[in-house]
Amino acid sequence: MSGVGAKLALVLGGLAELLFPSGCAGCRAAARGLFCADCSGLVEALPAWRCPRCAGNLPPPLARGARPFLCSSCAVALPAFDLVIAPFVYGGPVAQAVRRLKYRGARSLAMRLASAMAAAGAEVLRGADAVVPVPLHPARRRERGFDQALLLARGVASEARLPCLGRALARIRPGGHQVGRGREERSAAVAGAFCARGDLSGLSIVLVDDVVTTGATAGAAAQALREAGAARVAVLAVARAL
Ligand SMILES: [Zn+2]
Ligand SMILES: [Zn+2]
Repeated sequence: MSGVGAKLALVLGGLAELLFPSGCAGCRAAARGLFCADCSGLVEALPAWRCPRCAGNLPPPLARGARPFLCSSCAVALPAFDLVIAPFVYGGPVAQAVRRLKYRGARSLAMRLASAMAAAGAEVLRGADAVVPVPLHPARRRERGFDQALLLARGVASEARLPCLGRALARIRPGGHQVGRGREERSAAVAGAFCARGDLSGLSIVLVDDVVTTGATAGAAAQALREAGAARVAVLAVARAL
C-alpha cells in the first residue's frame, strides 16, 4: 500500500472504530461478546500443554499425566520473565483485532481486549503490585501517534484495581524488523533496548504487550525491570503467536 493509501486506510479505520465501537473485535459484525459467533469458532485459547515459562509449543508428552516442561529455547536461556499469559493464540480474528488496535479511536476495543486479558491473568493480577506496558520507541510512537500497549495496560490495571506505571520502562533503542527470526537472534537484537526508571525493589509486576511472538522483546523489557529490583515479572498479552 502507498503511504497516502495507508494513511487513508488508517483514517477510515479510525472513523469506523469511532462510529461502531462495539461489535465483533475481529470482523465488526454484530456480536454479544468480544467476538461474533463465526469468529468465536476460529478463536483459540492457549493449549494446556505449553512451556510453563514462555507459553510456547512443546513436543508431545511422552506419558499420560506428564507435566509440561521448559521448551528448548527456555532450557537454553531462561527468560527474565516468570511466565506468559494470554487469553488467545495469535491468528485469524484475534490478529484482525490486534491490527485494529493500531487505529486511533480503538480505545473501546482496547478496553474490551484488556478485560479478556484481566480474566485470563486474574490469578497473577491478584498477587501483583503494578501493571507496566512494554513501551514503543518514542520515534515509533510519534509516527503512529498511539501506543496500544499503554492503552491495554491501563485497561488491565483498571480492571484489576492496580496502579499502571506507564513510565516505568523506556525504550531507548528501536527494535528494527524482527520478522522471521528466532528467539536467539531477536534477543540479541533487543538486548539493552529498554531501561527502567525508578526503584521497583521487591515489586511483583505484570508486563503488558499486545502480542508475544518469540518472547524476546518481553524478555528484554523484563530484564530491565529485574535490574530495577522487580521480584517477579509476569507477561500478559492479548495473544501468543505459536
Ligand atoms: Zn466476527
Ligand atoms: Zn519456553
